[in-house]
Amino acid sequence: MRRSKLTYFLLILLLNLTQIKTAFADGGIPTPEEFVGFKIGADKKLFGWETVVNYFGVLHDKSDRVTVQNLGESTLGNPFIMAFISSPMNLMNLAKYRNLQKQAANPHHLTDEDMRELARQNKVFVMITLNIHSTEIASSQESIELAYKLATDNSPQIKRILDNVIILLIPSMNPDGMNLVVNWYKKHVDTPHEGSRLPYLYHHYAGHDNNRDWFMMNLIETRLVSKEMYQNWFPQIIYDQHQMRAQGARLFLPPYTDPVNPNIHPLVHAQMNKFGKHIASDLQARNFRGIVTDAFYTAWWQGTSVMTPWWHNMLGILSEVASAQIATPLYFPKGSLEGRDPGLSEYKQQMNFIDPWPGGWWRLRDIINYEMAVTLSLLDLAAQEKESIIYNFCKMNKDAIEKGRSETPFAFIIPRQQHDSITALQMLIVLKQGGVEIHQANEDFFVGNQRFQKGDFVILLSQSFRPYVKDLLEPQKYPDLRKTAGSPPIRPYDLAGLTLPLMMGVKTVQVDESFETDLTELTSIPFPQPKLEQEKANYLVSHKTNRSFNLVNRLLKDGKKVYWLKNAIDIDEHHWEPGTIYIPAKEMKTEKMQRLVEELSLEIKQTGKSLQGQVVYRLKPVKLGLYRPWTANMDEGWTRFILEKFEFPLKPIYNTKMKNGALKRNFDAIILPAMEPEKIIHGLTRTKPDIYSPQLPKDYQHGIGHEGVENLKDFVRKGGTLIVLDSACDLVIEQFGLPVENVLKNVKHTDFFCPGSLLEIIVDNTEPIAYGMPKKAAALFAKSPAFRPFYWTKRTAVLAYYPDDNPLLSGWMLGDEKIRGLAAALDIPMGKGRVVLLGFRAQNRGQTHGTFKLLLNAIHLSRAKEEVLKK
Ligand SMILES: [Zn+2]
Repeated sequence: MRRSKLTYFLLILLLNLTQIKTAFADGGIPTPEEFVGFKIGADKKLFGWETVVNYFGVLHDKSDRVTVQNLGESTLGNPFIMAFISSPMNLMNLAKYRNLQKQAANPHHLTDEDMRELARQNKVFVMITLNIHSTEIASSQESIELAYKLATDNSPQIKRILDNVIILLIPSMNPDGMNLVVNWYKKHVDTPHEGSRLPYLYHHYAGHDNNRDWFMMNLIETRLVSKEMYQNWFPQIIYDQHQMRAQGARLFLPPYTDPVNPNIHPLVHAQMNKFGKHIASDLQARNFRGIVTDAFYTAWWQGTSVMTPWWHNMLGILSEVASAQIATPLYFPKGSLEGRDPGLSEYKQQMNFIDPWPGGWWRLRDIINYEMAVTLSLLDLAAQEKESIIYNFCKMNKDAIEKGRSETPFAFIIPRQQHDSITALQMLIVLKQGGVEIHQANEDFFVGNQRFQKGDFVILLSQSFRPYVKDLLEPQKYPDLRKTAGSPPIRPYDLAGLTLPLMMGVKTVQVDESFETDLTELTSIPFPQPKLEQEKANYLVSHKTNRSFNLVNRLLKDGKKVYWLKNAIDIDEHHWEPGTIYIPAKEMKTEKMQRLVEELSLEIKQTGKSLQGQVVYRLKPVKLGLYRPWTANMDEGWTRFILEKFEFPLKPIYNTKMKNGALKRNFDAIILPAMEPEKIIHGLTRTKPDIYSPQLPKDYQHGIGHEGVENLKDFVRKGGTLIVLDSACDLVIEQFGLPVENVLKNVKHTDFFCPGSLLEIIVDNTEPIAYGMPKKAAALFAKSPAFRPFYWTKRTAVLAYYPDDNPLLSGWMLGDEKIRGLAAALDIPMGKGRVVLLGFRAQNRGQTHGTFKLLLNAIHLSRAKEEVLKK
């Protein structure tokens, strides 16, 4: 399907180019309006991604100021393009400027005078990223108008921009989503559903969370763009366009608001503040009203495309313009506009909001006008201040290199010996994609009296992207911004703690004293190349490596016998823990297994000894269902992402099937993603009818209803496994009458608050659902439950619980005593089946590798049968 889609686009591109050549035989470039057949931004008019690709194809062909590059394919197989826009001379010399950019990004050998000279010779690189959030549709439409202006305008301003700036323009950061939104809108225009929200995710896996992926880089789109940012072009400025809610200020620009992340170079913020204020002043002079600065968006956390570059000493400038209803205009009568915290608690004139917009009509075209004006003002300032921007980038990189030599920490060491060594290598890949330099030790060495081994990985802090390394690898201390201890907590914008080694379960040692050893810088991360030596021997695989799930699922798919050993055993002087994966020799020829483990880089052991008499769980392929609501649930998408990564076959379960389907006949295990119980039952259907917001078509309204809840109960009673994630736990606790209480259910925020932090859990890894887990792990807690199980006549297994002292490892938490010693994950028997409650983000955004196993094991256990191994 992917390939045919790409072919389709290329074909369309060629066809259109031929048509255009005929239509504009004079060699002129068609205006966007001529090209699409209507005024860009006209009410109720939108074009899709094909049009964008085709128009950029025309510019590539006809303009010597534009070169378009296809960076790859999006998740659903659309072409993902980036345009270089600059003067013809600059475009001819791209290779030279790329070389200068590489030096600017790594100026360890440059003197101050060298850096000033480099700034004089070089051009400033500005990456402009549009439409990452697909419902924020205006920028996708603006993309061709902006490119057209830059390609054709001969004013002194545009000439100055083109002479001094090399623009990397990405017309949509999520082409798949642009098409989904445009098609949905067009389908419902002039019906009661015009402008209604999309009932499914606008990124196949992530929805709106596609802009929370920028340090973990799970998504193809994130990786494509990060490569341009951190490996290829090192833009000094990234400008990202968004839209915010409709009823407030018209435009947000930096400065951002508190708290400030202490790892960011102050010169990053100083320059971004200058840009924001400069653009605001420029726009005010042209009568653009309703601009707010110093508000809403904090300067703390990593995860978005425009903010993650701050930790790379790049300026990331965000604009947010008030939305219309997709392409349908909205009218704001006097009194309908609202302020918003933080920064603009009331909609009235104040120093960071000098000229409130008075209201009236607000259309798609208005949004595009604001976005165009901001872009041109930003580019103009970048052109004017070219030398200082380039010099400052060099200087910040140089400062980071020097700080890494003079200030602790000096390094982070990632030992090769790990609980899950492949996940540790994956963490290194993630860092490398973010432009981090990684070394490997060529010999054993000591730091103080701690010994490290040859082959251990060393990340020196003396490198340009030191802020990024430090921020991702150290625990976060989120500042409490309250004036007094009794006031309500001020909510972080997103995660308060995102320490990578904790999330991924990777042992990482911070080094605060100087040390010497022989190191080699790595160009790629070396994965093990396992070799199987014995013929006709049984296979044993550790359950500790997440990647073992890929092996198990491939074997099950081929109808092979796979077992988990229930008890620890010692074989051939090797200790194997409960949950060890056992595959009898006769299931798989050595040669075939060799190919599999090579592909997976999975180290497995062989033994000639018999395992007769061992108690085991025999695994079977699981019929797995994942609830897919019409609320565009991101946790559903990420769960699907993880399950596909580990090769679990799965089917979506929609509301109708939840209500009436024969669930037990069709499924062994069902997963409810994290979502509010109310939404599971009722969907996003409004309780009161109104005429002012568009309803979804009937098929997409409602939730699983009370019939669905009863059907799920029946599924479990008959032997099914229901796996419930995080916020969905309350639904089953209450509706099923489970012997457990969520003690945080009605607790006030002043008594307990933990919005997105990493907490320690103690794991009972003798329980099958916790097989392969270490005894202690980090759980991502984000407004999660905490369980007090009740005693009864059946055995409730506590899979993981919070320690008796403060469990906070990274982030922020108030009232930790409320959850000390309480359960975090439970396995509760019910009828012939079981309910598994995972009371935290076990697979959050595909990032929390350290707790994936709890989810993945629970799936396998749903069909595993206990037996004793015969001969
Ligand atoms: Zn957005």
